[in-house]
Amino acid sequence: MHDQVAALREAGVRAAYLNSALSAQEASAVERAFVAGEWDLLYVAPERLVTGRFMDLLARTKIALFAIDEAHCVAQWGHDFRPEYIQLSILHERFPEVPRIALTATADAQTRAEIVSRLQLEDAQQFVSSFDRPNIRYQIVEKADPRKQLLDFIQAEHRGDAGIVYCMSRKKVEETAAWLEKQGIRALPYHAGMDVPTRQRNQDTFLREDGVVMAATIAFGMGIDKPDVRFVAHLDLPKSIEGYYQETGRAGRDGTPADAWMTYGLSDVVQQRRMIQSGDADEQFKRVGLAKLDALLALCEATTCRRVRLLNYFGEDAQPCGNCDVCSNPPATWDGSVAAQKALSAVYRTGGRFGAVHLIDVLLGHASDKVQQWGHNKLGVFGVGNDMDEKGWRAVFRQLVAQGLMGVDHDAFGALTLTEKSRAVLKGESPVWLRQEVAVKTTRKSRRPIAAPAHPADDALFEKLRVWRQAAAREHNVPAYVIFHDATLAQIAQLRPATLDQLGGVSGVGARKLEAYGAGILAVVNAAVE
Ligand code: ZN
Repeated sequence: MHDQVAALREAGVRAAYLNSALSAQEASAVERAFVAGEWDLLYVAPERLVTGRFMDLLARTKIALFAIDEAHCVAQWGHDFRPEYIQLSILHERFPEVPRIALTATADAQTRAEIVSRLQLEDAQQFVSSFDRPNIRYQIVEKADPRKQLLDFIQAEHRGDAGIVYCMSRKKVEETAAWLEKQGIRALPYHAGMDVPTRQRNQDTFLREDGVVMAATIAFGMGIDKPDVRFVAHLDLPKSIEGYYQETGRAGRDGTPADAWMTYGLSDVVQQRRMIQSGDADEQFKRVGLAKLDALLALCEATTCRRVRLLNYFGEDAQPCGNCDVCSNPPATWDGSVAAQKALSAVYRTGGRFGAVHLIDVLLGHASDKVQQWGHNKLGVFGVGNDMDEKGWRAVFRQLVAQGLMGVDHDAFGALTLTEKSRAVLKGESPVWLRQEVAVKTTRKSRRPIAAPAHPADDALFEKLRVWRQAAAREHNVPAYVIFHDATLAQIAQLRPATLDQLGGVSGVGARKLEAYGAGILAVVNAAVE
C-alpha cells in the first residue's frame, strides 16, 4: 500500500491508505480527509473494510467506485483464498448504487466464474485481456545440482539484476540466501517465519535498491509491484500453473526482457504428490489439487511451446512463441515403452515399497547393501536396465510419475507404486512417449538486455542517471522505480534532451514528473554532454 500510494502521489494522484502501520493520529487525519472528499483513491484491506467503523465512514462520504484488487482471493479452491474477501459482497448490499470493479492478473475461467458469483457481479461486463507476457522467457531445466545451476544461470544472464528465487521451505530460503551471499551475489531471505521488522527491512531493501536477489517462500510477492525484477527462479515445483504463472509474472513488469527459470526433478513430483495425498483436506479438494499438479507437470514435460501450453490453460489460443526453451531448443521424443515396462516391472517385483534410487540400482544391476539385503539381486529385473545410465533412468521415472503411469505411496516415504494406468503399459497395450533431455546451453548476455542503451557513452550516462535516481528516491523516501523506470532512463540517455520540452516527449515522463525532476535530469545530461 505504501509504495503504490507513493507511486500515485509522484504521478499527481491524491491517494492515501489506511492500515495498521499508521499511528492513531495519522489514521484519523486520513479518515477526516476521506470524509471531506480530499482523496481520489483510498487503499484499505478487506479486514478493515468490513468493520462497522469503516462502514460508517463510507456512509459519510460520496464514493464513485469500489475497486476490488486481487479479486481471485475469493476463489475457495484457489491458491490465494482469503475468507474475508467473501465478505466483500457487503459493499453491494450496503451501497448498491456505487459501481464496482473486480481486478485480477491470474484467473482461469473457473476462477472468473467464482469471482462473479461470490461478489454478485452477475450483471457485470467482463474484460479479459491476454494472459501473455511476451517479454518473459520461460525455461524449465532438469534438476541436477540445483544451487549450482541457479548460480550459473544468475552469473551468465543476470549479474547485478534484481530477482526472486522461490523455495518451498523456510529453511531452504535461509540456506539459499546465505549461500548466494557467499558466492558474491547480494541476496536476502523472506518467509513468514521471520520476525516482522527483519522481514519488512528485507522487503524494503529489495524494493528500493538495485540488484538485490530475494530468496523467498510464496509468502513473498502479493502486492509486490517492482517493475524491474529481471528474473524469477523456482528451486522447487509450485503447486499449480496458477501459482507458477502468478509468481513468474512478477518478472519484467516494465515490459523489457525477463526470465522465468525453474529446476525440476523426480523428487519434486514425488514430494508434491505426497503432500497433496497425505493432507487433511477432503477427497474433492485432493482431486482438484492433483489435477492442478498434473497440468503443471505436463507443462514441465512439454515437448511443444511452453507459452502455448500456459495460455491454453487459461483458455487462450496461441502460436509457438520462439521465446521459451522448448521453442529455441526443441526436445526430441522417443518411444519409451520398453523402458517404461522395465521400470514398472521393477516396481511390481519389489512389491511397490521402494523409492527411485533403490529401483534404479536394481535396474542397473548395482548390488548395493540394500539391494542384497532384500534379495533384489536375485530378481529377473536385476540388471535389465544397464543399457541406460542412472540419469536416463531418473528421467524415465520422473516422466512416468508425471504422466500418472506410476504412483506415489503417500504413507511410505517416496515409495513408487503401480497405478490403474500401469497395467496397459506393462501389457504393451499403450505406448509411452518420453521426452529426450537436451543439454541447455547458457549464453552470456549483457547485463541489461533491452533497457541498456546500445552506445557505451549512452551507457555511462545511463549509469549517472541511475545514481541520480537513487539519490532522488532516498530524498522522497520511495523506491527508485517510482521516480523513473530503467526504460525511461535508457531513453533519456539515448536522446540526451537539452530542454524540458524534449524531455517531456520521453515516455514515462508526465507533467508532474517533468515539473518535479526535469531540472535535475537536464543537469545530469548537460554535465555528461559537456
Ligand atoms: Zn515457445
